[in-house]
Amino acid sequence: MKIIMAAAECAPFAKAGGLADVMGALPKELSRLGHELNVIVPKYSLISEEYISEFALKESLEFDFKGQQMSFRVLEYNHAGVKFLFVENDDYFKRDQIYGQVDDSERYAFFNRAVLEIVRRQEKPADLLHVHDWHTAMVPFLLKEDQRYTSISSIKTVLTIHNLQFQGKFSRGVFLENFEMDARYYDDGSVEWNGNFNSLKTGISYVDKVTTVSPTYRDEILTDFYGEKLNSLLQEKEQDLIGILNGIDTEVYNPATDLAIEREFDAMSIEGKQVNKRAIQSRVGLPERGDVPLLTMISRLSGQKGIDVLQEVLPTLLAEQEIQFVLLGSGEEQYEQFFKKLAIDFPNKVYVHVGFDEAFAHLLYAGADIFLMPSHFEPCGLSQLISMRYGTVPVANKTGGLKDTVIEYDEHLKAGNGFLSDFLQNKAFSLALERCLAFYQQPEHWEVIKKNGMKGDYSWSRSAIEYAKLYDRII
Ligand code: ADP
Repeated sequence: MKIIMAAAECAPFAKAGGLADVMGALPKELSRLGHELNVIVPKYSLISEEYISEFALKESLEFDFKGQQMSFRVLEYNHAGVKFLFVENDDYFKRDQIYGQVDDSERYAFFNRAVLEIVRRQEKPADLLHVHDWHTAMVPFLLKEDQRYTSISSIKTVLTIHNLQFQGKFSRGVFLENFEMDARYYDDGSVEWNGNFNSLKTGISYVDKVTTVSPTYRDEILTDFYGEKLNSLLQEKEQDLIGILNGIDTEVYNPATDLAIEREFDAMSIEGKQVNKRAIQSRVGLPERGDVPLLTMISRLSGQKGIDVLQEVLPTLLAEQEIQFVLLGSGEEQYEQFFKKLAIDFPNKVYVHVGFDEAFAHLLYAGADIFLMPSHFEPCGLSQLISMRYGTVPVANKTGGLKDTVIEYDEHLKAGNGFLSDFLQNKAFSLALERCLAFYQQPEHWEVIKKNGMKGDYSWSRSAIEYAKLYDRII
């Protein structure tokens, strides 16, 4: 099959979170299964020169956008059997950040059109277009409703929801201005939801199949609590809504070959973790002690991630117990401030790095003992998978993909890979953390928990086969 994917981020080129990891790994795995994969991504200026210098100019294209002729260049980069096509337009993508720009609606409207323009002009027609999250969710609508794309309108489509919270909601005027489609599409509810133009809703309505990134999240988003006001629509599409668990790129995240860490290790040489732990402590200026549990969190700092739970739990825990905590993350100001203050209050126990740092993240996964993930909701979550691959034990709330991948340790059976709390009560998270810390003191259990995590199969192979089967069914 010839599959074209389009998304706003893709590792290792431009990454804000898990979406990029998926785009960096799933196409590769599908290509291994024998399919032809094209991945279309914006060419952000933040992509490192190391990659940009390898990009080859493929073509320059033009199309009508917002009443004028707009042009963009398509740059090609072939890697691991996948053809990456970068959409270059400096007006929209020469920015310091991927998201959070005032004109995001316009930037991604442009990108949706650019994707279709590329697809329309390809010699070999695609069998299926797979789009991801709101940024590319208008593609299926445009494909069906805009005369410009009649020649490709029979191509089947899939939309993956990586996070239902982000829907790309804008006003009626924004829809009319950016897409230049008839107002009736807004007025008859085709692109409208609860009084707004809603990109994700439009995608859900128009695609052949909707997938999301774990079986539990798939069920959760049908409910009022997790449904982000789209659950009634999702219920209508229930038969076409499928949960497929994400994997991680086990080549990028491999403690045995990872060049970003201090000492490579695997389950047989797990003592190598200690060298990485010391490397973290020495780098961030915490006491270099192997016996004190080192807790970490690597995350976008948003409400979803349960920082409020840590605000309840961490100050007391740090005051009462011998633990160390290192945070790597960025996001909402209030949470950044909380962690910065924590580092001031507990200078010998806490280190906080506000920012995005891929290499430091790898070292933390490798050297920490415990990974904290008190998310209120978590579509899949990759951090807990990466942690377990590096022998770092997750303490997580029992929701979404966390529920599907973290298994509470059972000391009698010596089975399980982490600790879970019922997410609605902060107390429950501190209890899960206390259970975890108690086992940390018992090496006969702790070694087993770490190794159970490391033994898990977090690769994409199984899930990629599920996607391939799904494509096959649709086509
Ligand atoms: P989400 O997609 O909701 O942000 P996931 O757990 O699915 O959460 O994926 C997060 C990914 O982003 C992981 O690969 C994690 O290591 C990475 N990440 C998050 N914050 C940072 C950061 N500040 N620096 C480096 N990597 C980060």
